[in-house]
Amino acid sequence: MNAAEVKSIAKQFGADLVGIAPIERLAHLPKEQNPLSIFPQAKSVIVIGRRILRGSLRGIEEGTNFDGTYGAFGFRYLEDNFLAKTTYDLTCWIEAQGFEAVPLFSYDHDGSIQAVPVTPGKPAPNVYLKWQLSAHAAGLGEVGLGGFFLTPEFGHRQRFATLLTDEELEADPVLPANSICKDCRACIDACPLKAYSGATHKEGTPGNESEVADYDAAVCAKCQNGAWILPGRFDHVDRCASSCGRECLVALEKKGALSNKFQNEFRKRSVWKNDVPGRAK
Ligand code: SF4
Ligand code: SF4
Repeated sequence: MNAAEVKSIAKQFGADLVGIAPIERLAHLPKEQNPLSIFPQAKSVIVIGRRILRGSLRGIEEGTNFDGTYGAFGFRYLEDNFLAKTTYDLTCWIEAQGFEAVPLFSYDHDGSIQAVPVTPGKPAPNVYLKWQLSAHAAGLGEVGLGGFFLTPEFGHRQRFATLLTDEELEADPVLPANSICKDCRACIDACPLKAYSGATHKEGTPGNESEVADYDAAVCAKCQNGAWILPGRFDHVDRCASSCGRECLVALEKKGALSNKFQNEFRKRSVWKNDVPGRAK
């Protein structure tokens, strides 16, 4: 089994994106977020992604359908069915080659602990990986200023899963910081609720970190512009389809920054925005 075979098989199983990081790129993390806490023999971290269809954002962009378009095909089914099936099939294939593979979902998680350590020295279960960091370490893209993980293929339009394996695979290079985003600020200017505070923090692997704007998740949780919170995902606000996320898509497509191209522009009409009670602004 080698990296080229893993990528080819993953794509046959439906993955749009596949990147590989050596475990060393994530081994410095606190044990509560460290892949070695879950699989101490892991040598490689494989991150796979499936695209969020541009068409699944259409109902929200037009303001006429939220659940049947994005909620189903851009979020729930994509994460829990399509991506989960690709992850499971790739895990089965790797194990059929004689290597163990640990499949992990990528729900956003802020570190809430659900139990006590089983033995002194071990982190409390459940350990969750920071999926944006794993995807960055696997060379798939970067976290942009607006807080979205951006790839050169789809911008902010994808969802990821991670597999840890005990086979040493050829790694992909990490993208240099700020190679996609370029800090255009369109997402920040588009927020009707002024959720971005103006402060920033750094995200990325050591030596390759980019500036990411702070935003108030409590404000986003009330946002009625396409933001989502789904049960079982740690109350994280999914902002992909909201005013900020769709503006990022428009900005990156206008710049010609994405390799997934379309005949027609995404934005066709004037932009709608709601205030907190859901009234048009
Ligand atoms: S989810 Fe809504 S409130 Fe939060 S940054 Fe995006 S547009 Fe602003
Ligand atoms: S809208 Fe511009 S600044 Fe914001 S994340 Fe996208 S590319 Fe970066």
